Amino acid sequence: MYPETLRIEGTQQPYFRTPEFSKLMKDVERWFLDSVHAPDGSEFIALTASGTGAMDAAVSNLLSGDDKVLVINGGSFGARFSRICERYAIAHEEYKIPFLHAFRKEEFEQYAGRSFTALLVNLCETSTGQLYDLAYLGEFCARNNMLFIVDAVSAYLADPIDMERFHVDAVLTASQKALALAPGVALIAISPTAVRRLGKGNRAYYFDFEEYISNQRRGQPPFTSAVGTMLALHQRLESIMHKGVKAVNDEHAQRARYFRELIQDLPLALPPIPLSNSCTPLIFPEENATAVYTALKEKYEVFLTPSGGDWKDKQLRVGHLGNLTLEDYDDLVHKLIGELI
Ligand SMILES: *Cc1c(COP(=O)(O)O)cnc(C)c1O
Repeated sequence: MYPETLRIEGTQQPYFRTPEFSKLMKDVERWFLDSVHAPDGSEFIALTASGTGAMDAAVSNLLSGDDKVLVINGGSFGARFSRICERYAIAHEEYKIPFLHAFRKEEFEQYAGRSFTALLVNLCETSTGQLYDLAYLGEFCARNNMLFIVDAVSAYLADPIDMERFHVDAVLTASQKALALAPGVALIAISPTAVRRLGKGNRAYYFDFEEYISNQRRGQPPFTSAVGTMLALHQRLESIMHKGVKAVNDEHAQRARYFRELIQDLPLALPPIPLSNSCTPLIFPEENATAVYTALKEKYEVFLTPSGGDWKDKQLRVGHLGNLTLEDYDDLVHKLIGELI
């Protein structure tokens, strides 16, 4: 987290049914919609939830039993979208991508012209670090008249997102990834096309987008907001917009590139897939990922992200989000070498 964030989260939290808080929420709305280049007439929703709350709410508000949904399942976050569809009894089919395999357009084209009404994708499938081709998927959805729902929880600010240019109908993110805030706030932008679908879905109560949108007109949340995190979010978005989203994307790209170059000579591999700037997945040919994870944690309190299930000993992920510098990667690689060689 950034020092400013720590400072704000550590101060008294104000009462929020005030014009001052409304103004803050309106600033956040404007900056967030700008940051994803949302088309005119888009709406902004801030939920008190983690990222999965936004995934759940996007499905329950924007899709219904009349839909036939295509889900890109390239890992655990793609699988989560399928399970959410199951829970709401929404018909769906999966394009499944096995571990260490890249998305293939030639293969994906089999779903064209098959009357799917919506596409659900995690722009970065964080469990593998794979970045999907937003321009291609947007064009695919436009061509097939499909609603395009993009979970950008980990990709937001790390990889370029442009709702208007890539025909995106919903973008989701959460406070604890590149925004580097406390967990607990999910941010959503929905296009005018998506707005027109509201009211048809499963009518969640706490997550009813129509309630959020009508309250947000006066800058208020329908229920108690994560007030301290919203204050810190306001500061973060202000500084990001000041710097420019492109410059922030570039910083993430630079960290990712720098780290990937540093590890070239280590006994590790990068997966043969297009990678997001949000993290670098490291493949351990010796299957000692768990041992390395534990050693870094115990010796240095350095945490890499372990993988679950079958990939536990094969993969760790190195994050590029938040208040990290190139020197942090020098230091990490130094420590990694100590464990590997
Ligand atoms: C982190 C993340 C989420 C949200 O997970 P929560 O634990 O609910 O915050 C959703 N999708 C992707 C792609 C993520 O990386």
